[in-house]
Amino acid sequence: MSETFPVPEPSAVSAPFWAATEKHQLTMQRCESCDRLVWYPRSVCPRCGEFSLRWEQLSGQGVVYAVSVHHRPAHPAFADKVPYSVVLVDLDEGARIMSNVFGPPPTVGDSVSVEWIPLDDGRNLPTFEVR
Ligand SMILES: [Zn+2]
Repeated sequence: MSETFPVPEPSAVSAPFWAATEKHQLTMQRCESCDRLVWYPRSVCPRCGEFSLRWEQLSGQGVVYAVSVHHRPAHPAFADKVPYSVVLVDLDEGARIMSNVFGPPPTVGDSVSVEWIPLDDGRNLPTFEVR
């Protein structure tokens, strides 16, 4: 039996994000006051301090901003995945998130699309692959 991926328990704030992953939808909060995307999930906009954050579905498309290739697994669940990459992705909508690319390491500037790793509880873990 394989190890399950280490993922956070949904909090009250992040629950909508995880619920959307069950439908393979990448979502993020947007502040209705200053119009900025907010990542990671929170209660208050870190830019303007307003509480008016609403959830928005994203395209799941982006460009690799930075890559760190890992040859030793950071967790037993990644043992059969090495080498894998921890990446910063600039999403087409303008936000930057940290994620993983499994398989051949991408290079900075590669176009990537979100991919989903199923978790045992129906949620899915977002990763990216070069398109
Ligand atoms: Zn704001």
